[in-house]
Amino acid sequence: MPAKVTLLPGSFWPHPPAVHITHGETGWLEVICGPMFSGKSEELIRRVRRAEIARQPLQVFKPRIDDRYDATRIVSHSQLAFDAVVAGTSAEIARAVLPETRVVGIDEVQFFDAGIVEVCERLAAGGARVIVAGLDQDYTGKPFEPMPALLSVAEYVTKALAICARCGAPAGRSQRLVATGARVVVGAAESYEARCRRCHVPRVEAQTGELFP
Ligand SMILES: [Zn+2]
Repeated sequence: MPAKVTLLPGSFWPHPPAVHITHGETGWLEVICGPMFSGKSEELIRRVRRAEIARQPLQVFKPRIDDRYDATRIVSHSQLAFDAVVAGTSAEIARAVLPETRVVGIDEVQFFDAGIVEVCERLAAGGARVIVAGLDQDYTGKPFEPMPALLSVAEYVTKALAICARCGAPAGRSQRLVATGARVVVGAAESYEARCRRCHVPRVEAQTGELFP
């Protein structure tokens, strides 16, 4: 008997509505993390596509902030695409997940509020397979909340690496190539490149001369 996820409006949960387990097996949380250009979205799309082929009811979400390629799809740098619903907050995702949904995918999960951790946990506890992808570090190499908490509570963690654009070593960091102190600059290839720990320069503002000779 497949598990059912039931949404209960007006519960004690601070991000209403809560998810209630009615019956069936438990779900789990899969996290795909890594720097830019490590193929995170590609891997998320691959996994949800497999679920779609198996005709498992699924829903895919992306944050409103990320409109760099397409408003209603998640699109990898390699131009793979999958239909997605745009959500502004974690509570919006909790409200939008249908009772029959078995697989929930979330791209660019680091752009959601801290409530996304509880939403993922409750969906998984309610029987859903939850697959999220996102940056685990910001452009300075610091953990990108809420990713640390998601990694802690996940059953499966995939840390994807890119290739350092400078030296070719395995790269776990995203180098920002434009001078701004803002944590979030949504951009594609021209604003960032993958770097290894040795080649990564956390404070690009101080290195502008080097990066733009
Ligand atoms: Zn390097």
